[in-house]
Amino acid sequence: MTRRGVILYGPPASGKDTVTGALSTADPVFALFSRVKIGPGRTAGYRMGTPKLLAELRATAGAVVYENSRYDSTYVTDRPGLDAAVAAGVPVMHLGQIDGVRTVLDGYPADWLTVLLWCPRESTAERSAGRGDTDTAARLAAWDATQADLEANAGFRFDLVVRTDAASPEQAAERIRQALAERGQRLLMLDFDDTLIDRLGAVTAWISGYCAAHGVGPDVERRILGAMRIRADLRTFEGLCAKLPLPESADQLWARYNAEFPATVRPFPGVPDALETVRTGGWQVVVVTNGGGEIQRAKLKASGIDGLVDGVCISEEASARKPDPAIFETAAASVGSSLARGGWMVGDNPALDVIGGRAAGLRTVWVSHGRPWPGGAEPDYVALDVLDALDHVRGAQ
Ligand SMILES: [Mg+2]
Repeated sequence: MTRRGVILYGPPASGKDTVTGALSTADPVFALFSRVKIGPGRTAGYRMGTPKLLAELRATAGAVVYENSRYDSTYVTDRPGLDAAVAAGVPVMHLGQIDGVRTVLDGYPADWLTVLLWCPRESTAERSAGRGDTDTAARLAAWDATQADLEANAGFRFDLVVRTDAASPEQAAERIRQALAERGQRLLMLDFDDTLIDRLGAVTAWISGYCAAHGVGPDVERRILGAMRIRADLRTFEGLCAKLPLPESADQLWARYNAEFPATVRPFPGVPDALETVRTGGWQVVVVTNGGGEIQRAKLKASGIDGLVDGVCISEEASARKPDPAIFETAAASVGSSLARGGWMVGDNPALDVIGGRAAGLRTVWVSHGRPWPGGAEPDYVALDVLDALDHVRGAQ
C-alpha cells in the first residue's frame, strides 16, 4: 500500500497552520501530524509526552524518526504516530529544518510531497504583529534562520514552492492537492536476471553440480559456463552438445535445466526489503525480462520476487525482446501506465537495459557489479548493485 504525506517547510508565519486548515477543510483526508512534545508551554497541536515515554521511544529501534530540541522542549516525530497517521489519511507535517525534512524522507519511506511555503520577512513581521505575538523579534530571528537554512541546503529541491504573500491559504491548499493528484504513481522497470536475482551465481553452482555428478572435467565445465553466462535456452544446449562430449542430449539437458534450475535462484541480499520501501514510496514496480515464460515465471516464484512487484513482463509472452521499445510499452501498460508518462529502467545489461531503456524514453540506471561502463550513450546513473540503484531512483526528483 502506498503511504502518502505532505511536508510543509517555511519560516514563521508563512502559513503552515492556515494552509493545513485549508487542506483539511477542502478534504478531511488531510490532517495535521502532531508530534510528541516533551516539555513545558504550548500544548495545542502536540501529543504531550513524558520523559519516560521519550526514553521508551529512544530505546525502541526505529521508533524515533526525527527528534529535535528547542528551548526547554524535545519534539519527536515517531514511527508509531506516523504509522497511525498514514493509515488514517494523509498526514501534513510541519518541519523547520531541511535536515529534518531529509531525515524524514530517508527514515520513513512514503510518497512525501515536500512543499516550501515562503513569505518575505516583512510578511512575517506584519502577520506576527497582527496576530498579537509577544515574541515577534524571535519570529524574525527564526525567519533569518530559515533563509540561512535554505542557502546552506541550496541543492535541496522541494516538489512545490508556494509564495503565501501572493496566494491565499485556499489557493495554496488547492495547488498542493493538484500537485499530489498530478504526480500519480511513478513507474520503475527492473531487469530480473543478475539485477534482482543472482542468476550467474546460481548458474555457476548448477553447472558445477551437474559436472561433478556426471564426471565432466573442468575444461568442459568452463566452456558450458561460458555459453550459459548470459542466457540459456534449448539452442544453447544444442550448440554445446554439437561441440562437447556431454553425457546427455540437448533435449535432456534442457528438460533437466528447466526442472532443476529455477528452484535454486535467490534475490540478492536486501532486495525484498528494498522493493517494499520503493513501493510504499509510491512507485509502481514492473519486472521486464527477456526469456521464456515458463522458466522465468518459475524463477520469479522461487525467488519470491513475483509477490513483491506490481507487474511482470516476459519477452516470450510480450512477443518483443529488450531492447525493442515495444516490450517497455507493454510493461508500462501492464500496470495501467504508459511510456509517455516517463519512468526509470534499471538493469545490468548495457545494450538491453540501458540503451533499450533510453530508446524507450526512460531514465536509466546501470547496475555495474563493479564493471567499467563499456562505452556509448551513458546511463543517468551507474550503481554498484541494485540496492544502490533503488536508493538513487527513490532520491531522484
Ligand atoms: Mg540482466
